[in-house]
Amino acid sequence: MSLAPARPEFPAVAGHSALDLVDTVHWRLDADRSIDTLASFDDVVAWCEQFGLLPGGSRESRRLAAAAPDAAAREHAAVVELREAIYSAVFESSEAAAQVIAREYLAALDRSSLVPAADGATWSWRPPADLTGPRAAVAELAHDLLRSDLSGARQCADDACGWVYLDTSPRHNRLWCTSAGCGNRNRVARHQARKRA
Ligand SMILES: [Zn+2]
Repeated sequence: MSLAPARPEFPAVAGHSALDLVDTVHWRLDADRSIDTLASFDDVVAWCEQFGLLPGGSRESRRLAAAAPDAAAREHAAVVELREAIYSAVFESSEAAAQVIAREYLAALDRSSLVPAADGATWSWRPPADLTGPRAAVAELAHDLLRSDLSGARQCADDACGWVYLDTSPRHNRLWCTSAGCGNRNRVARHQARKRA
C-alpha cells in the first residue's frame, strides 16, 4: 500500500486571506497555462481548512458533500464566483462584482452565529456547520477585504503569474508575489536578455 500524496499547500503570500483565495488560480494572466487549484468542493474545504475557516472540521464537510454531491457542486461554483468577484472588485473596480460580495455577505450573516472568539476578548461570526459554511466564511473574508485599506493591493509584475497581494513593504515597492519564485525567474531572464544584447 502506498501513501496518498500529500495535498500541496495553497499559497499564502498575499497578506489577506481573501487575496490568498484569488491566488488559488495559477498563471491567471495566461489562458493557455492557467490552472485552477480549486477544482472541486473538496478543494474548497481543504483551502478553508488551511486558513482555519471551518470550526466544524473538514471531515464533517466532506461527509456532507458525499451525501449531497449536487449541492456541494453548487457551493463549489458559488465560492469560485466569489473568488472571481474579489479579483474583479479589487483589480478591475467592478461595482457589479462588489454587489455579488455584498449579496453573499448579507446571506452569510443570516446563516451565521455571533460567538465569543478564542481570545476571549472579541466576538466573531461562526459560519453555519452545513455545506454553505465555506461560502459564508469566504463571503465574510471578501467583505472584510473590501472594507479594509486597499491602497497596497498589487498584482505580481510577472507577465503571466497573476497572483495578487497587499504590498506592506516599507517603501511600497514589492514587485513580485514571491522573491524566490517570480522575482528570481524574472531577474534571471532579464540578466540573460542583457547578456544577449
Ligand atoms: Zn508571481
